[in-house]
Amino acid sequence: MGEETQLQKTERLKRQLKGATLHYKEYTRHSESWDHDHCLVCWAKFMESGGVDILNEGYATDDDRDWVCASCFHDLKSAMGW
Ligand SMILES: [Zn+2]
Repeated sequence: MGEETQLQKTERLKRQLKGATLHYKEYTRHSESWDHDHCLVCWAKFMESGGVDILNEGYATDDDRDWVCASCFHDLKSAMGW
């Protein structure tokens, strides 16, 4: 057992997202108590507003819970069937 490493987590999330339908949209937080998300692949940060390192839009699943940044989307879209 032991803790899942970030690499293992990323690989698991990529498997979950394979063939998923992703939509390009402005980032919106999905809960009052949660103000950001991360790209599931490279861990870039999404927020509704923020500095130069913060992404304001990207590719999200239908429920807005899983986010992928534009550069990872383009890198992976053929491998992932997006
Ligand atoms: Zn990314």
